Amino acid sequence: MVIAGGGVAGLTAALSVARLGRKCLALTGDTLGGLLLSIEKVEGYPGFIDGIPGYDLCPMIQEQAVAAGAQFATGNVERIEKQHGHWHLASGKSKLMARAVIVATGATLRELDVPGAARLFGKGVSQCASCDAPLVRNRTVAVVGGGDSALQEALTLSGFAERVIVLQRDEKLTAQASYRDRVLNSAKIEVRCNAVVEDVLGGDRVTGVRVRETSGNASADLEVAAVFVYIGLRPATAFLHDHVNLDPSGRVPVDAQMRTELPGLFAAGIVRIGAAGRAAAAAGDGATAAVAADNYLTDGAW
Ligand SMILES: Cc1cc2nc3c(=O)[nH]c(=O)nc-3n(C[C@H](O)[C@H](O)[C@H](O)COP(=O)(O)OP(=O)(O)OC[C@H]3O[C@@H](n4cnc5c(N)ncnc54)[C@H](O)[C@@H]3O)c2cc1C
Repeated sequence: MVIAGGGVAGLTAALSVARLGRKCLALTGDTLGGLLLSIEKVEGYPGFIDGIPGYDLCPMIQEQAVAAGAQFATGNVERIEKQHGHWHLASGKSKLMARAVIVATGATLRELDVPGAARLFGKGVSQCASCDAPLVRNRTVAVVGGGDSALQEALTLSGFAERVIVLQRDEKLTAQASYRDRVLNSAKIEVRCNAVVEDVLGGDRVTGVRVRETSGNASADLEVAAVFVYIGLRPATAFLHDHVNLDPSGRVPVDAQMRTELPGLFAAGIVRIGAAGRAAAAAGDGATAAVAADNYLTDGAW
């Protein structure tokens, strides 16, 4: 089997496939750990009462998978094709053949689509709060978004920044209650709903953001030293477009066993339609896909 993806879904799939005694290679893309890699404290993952850094959790799962017999390589799956009952995958100059493939390629964070955001990326515009929080010590920063990721990272930033302003386009926050309550009770975090970021301002570095209140339509500039963007995810499924009917956001349809419409092709984790968006759920998907793939290789039933 080949597993595409080195996030918590792919790593757990590799662990589970290897434990079932199947030969498996996991291609981890560019980054082992995926979205969790830069998370200072992964919350809600079973077994870690106080949370665990994502950069610790993912290598631990990989170590467990290697001990069970899984093999790993870096590289992105660029093309995939089924010929004569086998899946053929291309990754750079490497060609791979597998009887079953588990796609666990996850997603990347969406960028803010305003002129200054791309120009100032890495110069105050960031998507990694734990990497850049120490650089904004005692400064005022903006976080764009109102979901789990935005609020979790606003909390991380509040440990360093003097003030964190959360700018949420919608009329209320959409994050789960545990993040919402902590944010709303934080003396350092201010939440502004109905606030659309129209531009990121600055010459060599971010100096502010232009914000429009949807209620009044008036824009105002806000002085901030950095802007952290958490406005949703873009599934990494470009290599599947010609084969699978993806949903409009690019996610893969699967059944309860993580089977796609194509025999031998499975999808697990945040890349699939209906994913719960939690690390534990992605790990569960990986294990489910592994068992289903093992069954498929045993009896060929689909
Ligand atoms: C800021 C933030 C904070 C979060 N905090 C928490 C939290 O505290 N608790 C929690 O439960 N959840 C949290 N989540 C959600 C959690 O990160 C995801 O649910 C989970 O990481 C999804 O795992 P995944 O393996 O499906 O995908 P990903 O983590 O996206 O992993 C995808 C993997 O696939 C690889 N890849 C991509 N394209 C290819 C390709 N073509 N070929 C091969 N490999 C490829 C990538 O390099 C990566 O290794 C957070 C998410 C964000 C964005």
